[in-house]
Order: sequence, then C-alpha cells, then structure tokens
Amino acid sequence: MSFENFGLIPELLKAVKAQGYEEPTPIQNIAIPAIFEGRNILASAQTGTGKTAAFALPLLQILSKNPSLKKRRRPRLLILVPTRELADQVGKNIQAFGRLLSLRSTVIYGGVKVDPQIDKLKRGVDIIVATPGRLLDHAYNYTVDLSRVEFLVFDEADRMLDMGFIENIAEMLDYLPPERQNLMFSATYPKAIKELADSVIENPLHIEVSKLNTTASDIRQFIHPVERDRKRALLYNLIIDERWNQVLVFTRTRKKADKLAKQLKSDGINTAALHSEKTQSIRTKILEDFKKGKIRALIATDVAARGLDINDLPYVVNFDLPDVPEYYVHRIGRTGRAGLNGIAISFVCRDDADNLTKIQEFIKQKISVKKIEGFDMERIKKKPSKKISSSKSKIENKTKGKGKKVKKIEKGKPKEVQKKSVWS
Ligand code: AMP
Repeated sequence: MSFENFGLIPELLKAVKAQGYEEPTPIQNIAIPAIFEGRNILASAQTGTGKTAAFALPLLQILSKNPSLKKRRRPRLLILVPTRELADQVGKNIQAFGRLLSLRSTVIYGGVKVDPQIDKLKRGVDIIVATPGRLLDHAYNYTVDLSRVEFLVFDEADRMLDMGFIENIAEMLDYLPPERQNLMFSATYPKAIKELADSVIENPLHIEVSKLNTTASDIRQFIHPVERDRKRALLYNLIIDERWNQVLVFTRTRKKADKLAKQLKSDGINTAALHSEKTQSIRTKILEDFKKGKIRALIATDVAARGLDINDLPYVVNFDLPDVPEYYVHRIGRTGRAGLNGIAISFVCRDDADNLTKIQEFIKQKISVKKIEGFDMERIKKKPSKKISSSKSKIENKTKGKGKKVKKIEKGKPKEVQKKSVWS
C-alpha cells in the first residue's frame, strides 16, 4: 500500500513526502480508508506507530474538500489530548500536514495566557487541538463555539482518564452536536476507557495493530538490579562508560527529578528536569534543547513526559519503576519510535519489586536481568541468597512486612481542570 492509493489530494501527498514518510504504517493502512468511509474508530496502537497521521491526513482532506461556507469559521475538528506537550506536538503535525491547505488550526491548553487564545478563536479556526480543562473554560465563557464540531478525536485516551479528565470530557460532550464522527486512539485499554468508548462511540471499527498492553517489539528492555542509594552512581557510570549522549530518565516525583538533575549537573553532566511545576515556556524550551541534543540527560516525571516524540531517542531509564503498569509501556515507548531501535533500562531495588511483578504481568513478558559489575545488590549487601528475581512469589516474600513505602506517582488534576472561568 502506498499513500497514493488512499486517494489523498496532491497537497497532502506533498506534505507526507516532506515528512519523509515512504509508506504508510499499519495503523495508517487501516484507519485512513475507514475514516474516509465515515466510520467511527476505536484504535489500539502501540506508542510511536504513526497514529497522528492516521487520523490527521484523512480528516484534513475531508475538511478542505468541504470548506466552511460561513464567514466566521467555527471549529469542525476537535482533537483532545492529555498534555500540553502532546497538544503542541499534534498541533505542529497538523500544521505540517496541512501547510498547503487553507485550513486554520490552533492549540489550546492551560498554563499560558488566555487572551491570545481568545483572539485566535474569535478570528475563526477549523481545527482545535486541546487539553480538556482549558477548552472547557473557553466553553463556559462562550469564547469557543463547539456546536459545529463534526469530528472528535481522543488521542492517548487512557491517559486522559488517568489525569482526571473524565468529568471534563463528559461535560464537554454537552457542548458538541450529537452527530459526529468519533475516533479514539489509545495505547492501552483499561476497563474505564472501554466503558467511556462504549458510551461515546457508536458502532466503532476496532483496529488493533498490535497486541493489547504489550510493549513495542523494537525496544530492548533490561533490568539492572541495584541498591536504592546506588541508583544515581549507576546512572552516572552508564552515561559516562557507555557514552550515552541522549537519555530520558523517569523518576517517581518532581522533587526527585529536581534532585537527581541537580546531582548529575554537579557531576558534570548536562542535565535538566522536566515536570508539571515548571512553567510552560520553560518546559517547551527544555524539550527543544533535549531534542536538539543540547541536554544530555533529561529527568522527567510521567506527567511531563507523556507524548514526547523525540527522533532517535536511544535510551530510556526508569530510575524508579512506575506504580501503574500502563505507565511503563508509555515511558519506554519514548524510545524505539517509528521502527527504530531503542533500549529501555529499569533500575530495580527492593522497593520496586512489587511494581516489577505488576509490570511483567501486564506486558506478559519477563524482562531480562543484566547485572552491572560493582552495582550488584548481593555484592553490596553480601547476602547472596537474596537475589532479586522477577518470580512473583519470591518478590512477595521479600517485600512482605517491609511496610512497602511506595510513594504515589504524581498524578492529580492538572491546573486546567479547575472549572468555571478560572483561567489557569
Ligand atoms: P505518532 O505515533 O503519530 O506519534 O508518530 C510517531 C513517529 O512516527 C513520528 O515521528 C512520525 O513523524 C513518524 N511517522 C508517522 N507515520 C510515518 C510513516 N508512514 N513513515 C515513517 N514515519 C512515520
């Protein structure tokens, strides 16, 4: 199959070529013709499979073939995403694919000034890419009119639920006309998402380009057993010894991300921390610098790092394992994108044992254990019989009675979830 076979207009074929796409990815092969046919879609796609182009290309074509006849344009395509970073990314993709079309798009999210958004909406747009909280604020304040939306896309839907957007979504639906084409994309499909999909999306075409809840196959995954207080030294050693030039590191909390970034900086490694406490402009700048290779190690929390598309990112490190197994799939999906190889390494200390069990059950895979000389747990503790193992029973025995102090992953509602005229 080629992009020409979809009947894409020359403007879009040119844009696809400019992106360097030679042939469609599996999700594009199935979704693009189905969207042209007007089908609702429920797609399960691994991270980095090309799902943005899968929905953007046909929808841009449909919109441009039937342009709005009204003088003042009102949004006809609404793309909901969980984070500001993903909103920017999808917004940029829409701009790139649609650069030869006369459609107008804008990106709406909280944490930035509202006036420029209001101005843009007033001037009229065809496409909105938004996080639900801020968009709902606009709806409350009548600064956006969603009554003409014909196409609704949920991107990374599972994460929208995780971030507490479910209520916002339910409220938002009241502002949309009932007759719409609905598309939902999600890497994982927990029960709550299936329920939302059932209530919102009628008779969808189910697309599954990969097995549910599995990790991308071109990511090599390893576990390095290590004592908790040696994790930082292990990370430093790997960066230096193995000459890592670009690594994304996940910690469980913002505080930890800041602390680790500070420590690595003092070790002479160009490092930055990325999390939801930083202002949006700083987050954007840090990401740009990391993508350009100006930052060697980026220490991030789950909230900030979701949806990042970093070309050729070679390494992802789970400094702490996530409490929620789905997050493991999303985190490591930052590497090995678009068919490239990537390495995902998890530092596992005794406190991580429970989470490791949950993750391995979730991905239905046992992750290879690779001990690093000088950092092996038994060596330090001199307890050779207490090897870390991914076998459930052993881990349970080990953690029993230890008052597992696993801190909750930073989640909670982002600022923009607050309701009624509170411009965050
Ligand atoms: P996405 O899953 O939409 O975030 O896309 C992941 C990455 O794959 C992005 O860097 C896209 O630019 C890239 N991509 C999307 N479609 C294709 C394609 N047909 N060929 C090569 N790369 C693609």
